[in-house]
Formats: sequence, C-alpha cells, structure tokens
Amino acid sequence: MRLSGQICCSCKVSLSPPHPGCERYCTRCRPPTRRVYLYFMLRDSWHIQFLEADLKSPLPRRLTFRDAAKIRELFDRFAAERKLEDRQALEYALENGRGSIWLNLTEEQYAKLKK
Ligand SMILES: [Zn+2]
Repeated sequence: MRLSGQICCSCKVSLSPPHPGCERYCTRCRPPTRRVYLYFMLRDSWHIQFLEADLKSPLPRRLTFRDAAKIRELFDRFAAERKLEDRQALEYALENGRGSIWLNLTEEQYAKLKK
C-alpha cells in the first residue's frame, strides 16, 4: 500500500484517491520545499546567482563554474520542471550564454544559499 501511494510513506496514514502508483507523503509529512530562481550568465566562466521566489531578493550565495555541465547537473537534481521541453529550453539558454531555472530545494539546501 505504501508503494502504490495509498498510505503515507512516513506516518502510514491513509491517503485519498487518486493513487498515483508511487510512494508519497501526506501533507503533514511532506518535506517542505523552497522555490528558488537560479540565474546563470556566461562571462569568462559561468556565473550563477540565486533569487528568492519573489524574483527581487538576491540570495547571498553565488557560484562560478568553468563548465556548463555543472548547470545541467543542478538542473537534473533540483529543477522544478524537468520535462523534455524544459531540458531543451535549458540547452537553448546555455547556447545563448544566459538563462534561468526554477529550483525546488529542501529547507536544508535553501539554508546553504542563505550563507
Ligand atoms: Zn504522513
């Protein structure tokens, strides 16, 4: 029942249909996620900045990558949407040397960007 999504995979409370056929959490157990906007730009190397979901408040943590592969890695791990068209949009943005990705982060990952 847990594997088919009929009960919460943490506290085992039964969940209302539709059952997705995969593990899921009830609303109480679901790990909170933070929506963060990642903005990247190619200069001498790839510069990465993060904004809060309001798109106004920058987060202090900045990253610099030599290789665009690192941006693809962030996309694969954290992007809020990872459908084929999202991947294609990313590739297009990388070719153009600038773009952005919406990320879903856990509280813990988000806290690292605040430092
Ligand atoms: Zn639960």
